[in-house]
Amino acid sequence: SSRLSDRVACITGASSGIGRAIALAYAAEGAVVVCSDLQPEAHADTNNEFPVATHDLIVQQGGKAKFVKADVRYEEQVEALVAKTVEEFGRLDIMVNNAGIGTEVDHQMKAGDFRLHQTRTQDFDLVMNVNTRGVYLGCKYALAQFLKQEPLPPNGRGERTGGWIINLASIGGHVALAGAPCYTTSKHAVVGLTKEIAVSYAKDKIHCNSLCPGFTETSMIAPMTKAKNDPTAIAATEAIRAAHPWGSLGQPEDLAKAAVFLASDDASWVTGHSLVVDGGYLAR
Ligand code: NAD
Repeated sequence: SSRLSDRVACITGASSGIGRAIALAYAAEGAVVVCSDLQPEAHADTNNEFPVATHDLIVQQGGKAKFVKADVRYEEQVEALVAKTVEEFGRLDIMVNNAGIGTEVDHQMKAGDFRLHQTRTQDFDLVMNVNTRGVYLGCKYALAQFLKQEPLPPNGRGERTGGWIINLASIGGHVALAGAPCYTTSKHAVVGLTKEIAVSYAKDKIHCNSLCPGFTETSMIAPMTKAKNDPTAIAATEAIRAAHPWGSLGQPEDLAKAAVFLASDDASWVTGHSLVVDGGYLAR
């Protein structure tokens, strides 16, 4: 279908996992997609899981896409990302702040019981810089652009939409992910930031929602799910699977379907919401 036809979307962290799936799903719905990441191909530690870069795959499939390199920790790079999107495609309609890291997964695998007093302050800073400050910067420059440009034509509610922001939070934005104190902090902040933006920019008809995945099979949790012959890791993966009533982990495409909804006119009265896609994790 073409629920996003001709809309210009920008997705951070689009080389891997959930960001890649969102980019592909948006393109399949007719969006023009700027794929941003540290590198076009998924990084080395994923064992070259995705040999074809996201934007190349979209173009091969007949869509319109471009790669723009940006590290969301650096303000000038995020500002340039939005500027290059507008330079290339004339506007920006959908900003997906997806780039994120979960360094504590590695610690959990090594230490089992990993708690805040064992964290390194530099790890707290790193996780906050990418997961929270990076989202703040993506919102800041997207909002400035949304306010500058002509709103989109009237939707089903007869309103001209000012733009969409989708921020990747987590079930860890709602409850503690024990063993990941820094990550939990960073994602709770994203849920709060999203609500404030939704309230403050509602008069501009700008939507801002967060998307909260349960554990999803991507490179982020590969230290768990891909672990072989490591009893701690295997036990951790089993416990995580069991914590999802659905009995399986999420797939990137499960999140991409929800992200399409949140950027479409189907969500014309949805803002400030935190859409949980988690196989029932938070319901228990
Ligand atoms: P992933 O590691 O597969 O993909 C993340 C992408 O972000 C990578 O391509 C990486 O290069 C990029 N990235 C990392 N730091 C960056 C930076 N500073 N600047 C720009 N890009 C950067 O992980 P994923 O699981 O697809 O994660 C996507 C989002 O979903 C993250 O925000 C993550 O916290 C969130 N999330 C994931 C899960 C899960 O279980 N996988 C659960 C809840 C939330």
